Amino acid sequence: MTEFPPKIKGVVAIDGPAGCGKSTVAQMLARRLGYVYVDSGAMYRAVAFWASQAALDVEQDTEEIGNLSGELSFEFQQVGDEQHLFADDEDVEEAIRSVEVSNLSSPVSAIPQVREHLVAAQRQMAAQGGVIMEGRDIGTVVLPDADLKVFLTATAGERARRRWRQLQEQGIIEDYEQVLRDQLERDKRDSSRAVAPLRPAEDARELVTDELTIQQVVDVLESWLQDALARGGDDAQDA
Ligand code: C5P
Repeated sequence: MTEFPPKIKGVVAIDGPAGCGKSTVAQMLARRLGYVYVDSGAMYRAVAFWASQAALDVEQDTEEIGNLSGELSFEFQQVGDEQHLFADDEDVEEAIRSVEVSNLSSPVSAIPQVREHLVAAQRQMAAQGGVIMEGRDIGTVVLPDADLKVFLTATAGERARRRWRQLQEQGIIEDYEQVLRDQLERDKRDSSRAVAPLRPAEDARELVTDELTIQQVVDVLESWLQDALARGGDDAQDA
């Protein structure tokens, strides 16, 4: 296990487009370090799921969806080997991974009131440190003071292939071309929206993952965190 400066519970922000591998990487790194892993996208997905359950329309009912996002409680719990999101004490992990919810989560996440509520909940989750949070706006908006900010990318083709394989493993049969189209559509919407668009923080370290194994990516991030904490270590311990 890595030796970190004593008493420092780091905060790591990982951002990047859909399918760049950030969930797997963040989860593995958190396990390795004994940190809490927060999948912020799961929270937007949960709002999208509850909105669809309530038959709310993402174009028409933005105010209701905004209110709903403020009323939901979110908690990540370990279930066997996996981490599941519980929204209002209900395990929604499986439901939020459907293709329908994936596509709906992007427009839902562009509703400013939804972002306001979820960002507040995410900051609370990171308040104690020892956290790895991944998403689209973690380094830029949610945790601008994170010890380490990482922007992970991969080419669109590689990301779509990974997503397609993941869906297949879950028994969801989708045409590869459709997965690629959905992904490009989500990328475009996430990067061009007015509120908290997907972009690297100015001080983020960028890593292209096409040619790297997950293990290699995790190793790079761990060494970056070690550097960051060693550099900020004296200040952090004085605080
Ligand atoms: O990361 P994931 O694909 O599960 O996220 C689902 C959707 O939630 C994304 O398409 C994106 O629109 C939105 N999202 C966001 N901000 C985050 C995390 C996810 O807008 N921090």
